Amino acid sequence: AELIKRLEDTIENIPDFPIPGIQFKDISPIFLDPKLYEDVIADLAAKSKGKVDAVCGIESRGYLFGIAIAVALEVPFILIRKAGKLPPPVISEKYDLEYGSATIETREGQIKPGQRVLIHDDLLATGGTTEAAAKLVEKQGATVSQFSFLIGLKGLNGDEKLKKFGAEVYHILEY
Ligand code: IMP
Repeated sequence: AELIKRLEDTIENIPDFPIPGIQFKDISPIFLDPKLYEDVIADLAAKSKGKVDAVCGIESRGYLFGIAIAVALEVPFILIRKAGKLPPPVISEKYDLEYGSATIETREGQIKPGQRVLIHDDLLATGGTTEAAAKLVEKQGATVSQFSFLIGLKGLNGDEKLKKFGAEVYHILEY
């Protein structure tokens, strides 16, 4: 509860960014407070301790916490990137956005068959990005055992979209 309060006091809400009607959550002030950052990592790592064999982070804010979680758990960290950034061979997954579509990729062979994987990102909104990441993990014969986020946005049914993977969904705070 104390961590939630500190995060609420630190994360900035920016109205009408990047487009009118959107309330943007800016997590960057967390990095001005190393103790808070440390406590966030400890909280997220504790949730996954002993339950995952690898951590996948989603570009780019998913890396800021994901790699530290993986190091704390002493398990591999795998980057999930926007298409065209990683050298071949890659595995790709295309998904729909509100307008158009996007593709995410991971290096082939970095996620191992049978691994229990944590997928981490800073924020869960509609769940579209995370759902595509989970499909990418399953394509490689691994299982998503957990999803974790700093923030879950209510009312966008992100949790609903992730249900089919049968994995635990954790966010430190909800808006
Ligand atoms: P989704 O695919 O709709 O769940 O959107 C989640 C993705 O959008 C994550 O990768 C977030 O980093 C990003 N995102 C959406 N809204 C915000 C926000 O208000 N602050 C920071 N990131 C956001």
